[in-house]
Formats: sequence, structure tokens, C-alpha cells
Amino acid sequence: MIPMLTLLPTLEIMKERRYDLYRDAKCRFCLTENEDEDHIIYCQQLKDKWITIANNTVHQYDQVLTNFITQEKQIQIQLNQKDIQQLHLWNRNFFKHTIGINYELPISFVHLLLRNFFPKGKYKELKNIVKSKKIALTIATLYLEVFTNEFHNIIWQPCCKIIAEWEQTKGIKKQEKKRRLSSHKYIKYNRTLTTQIEEDTYDLKGRKILKHNEQWSIALEKSRQYINKQIRERNKVAWKRVVKAYTEAICYNDPI
Ligand SMILES: [Zn+2]
Repeated sequence: MIPMLTLLPTLEIMKERRYDLYRDAKCRFCLTENEDEDHIIYCQQLKDKWITIANNTVHQYDQVLTNFITQEKQIQIQLNQKDIQQLHLWNRNFFKHTIGINYELPISFVHLLLRNFFPKGKYKELKNIVKSKKIALTIATLYLEVFTNEFHNIIWQPCCKIIAEWEQTKGIKKQEKKRRLSSHKYIKYNRTLTTQIEEDTYDLKGRKILKHNEQWSIALEKSRQYINKQIRERNKVAWKRVVKAYTEAICYNDPI
């Protein structure tokens, strides 16, 4: 699965490509900030949507966990009732620190989750509960799928829609967007690049992630393969939701 943020062609990227079309365009939600990869998690106008995503993820995941546990014999053997309760508690406390009354954006961990990375601290907690790397990775992967699905429905789709509508009012056509200008017509736009650092390091464009995280990604990819294998071999009903989230996530294209 390709991380969501690498596929978001933000307005800042569009300005770099075609400044002649986009000029001084700002985020279409707050209308004041530049819309780069990080802005989406900080935009004050998206605050309520982020809270909804966090709440929905926890709520949906509670059900996913229940289904997962009921259907996987290996997990039933490995986990006792107390472990299972702890697992649900782990989920319910996932975003706990940010959903208080005085929450500040961004919601914890979303900068990682959007890039398909799972927070290490949360993973450690998980592994302590389930005592198995394979199960912990599977549960972490399922979590990413649920979160991604919620983000897609609550922010990503409306965001694409609002930008498409704005482009329409500006007469910016799809074909025109993709056209490369000859060098004498091209207007260079210098973005103000930002870094987002919290335990992990990103390059200036916030895309390339350094070594230990890359390894982390590979680990998640392996568990994803494991999940796919499960889907192929047993084709159980509960997996349908996962497949759907997975397929939607890999099918993202430029907006419009
Ligand atoms: Zn904004």
C-alpha cells in the first residue's frame, strides 16, 4: 500500500508545477495557510473532522478486533480473557491524550499513520499484551487500514471535492494541469519547506523516511502479506472490510 501522503498532490506541489495557474492559492478550508503535506494535520478548520476520525477509528476498530479474535483460532489459544480486555482498552486509549477538552492539533500519531507507519510506543504496548510479533503486527496493520479508511471518507474525499470545485471556478482544466510549460513560460515557485519531527525524521518534503522507519515499513508490509494470505486462503466475511479499505487505499490517484 502506498502511503496516503505521498499521493496527495497538495496545492503547494501544484504551485511548483504550474504557478501560472495556482498563484497564491491557500488551503481551501482555512483560506489562510499554504496547503503542504503537513498542513492537513494542523489546519484549524479540520479540527472537528480529525476528532471524528479518531473517534470513528476507535469505534470501528473495537468491532474489527472482536471479529478478528472470534475468527482466529490461534489467537483464541494464545490470549486469555484478560488479554482480550486489555486489547480493547489499548484501542480505546489510543488517541486518549488528544481527545480531551483542550486538545491541540495535530491528533497524536496521525503524521505517522498517514504515512503508513505505526507508532512504536503503541506497538510495544500491543506486543506486551499479545506476546506474539505476528499477532501484534497483524493487529497494527488492521489498525492502519481502519484509520486510512476513516481518513479517506472524512477528510480526503471532501478535500479533493473542494479543490476540484475551486479549480473549476478558476477555469483550471484537468488537461491543462498536466501540461508542462515550456521553460520561458514557466514561473518558478519556491515553497517554504517544513519538517515534521517527533521521534522520527523526515526529509524536507516530508516523504522520505530514514532507515529504522524503513525497516519498520518492511515489517508492516510482511504482516500485510500475511493478511493477504489469510484472505486468499480462507476468504472469510470479516476480511471483506479490510480488502475494501486496502483496495481503496491503493487506488488513490490525483484528485478529480
Ligand atoms: Zn487550512
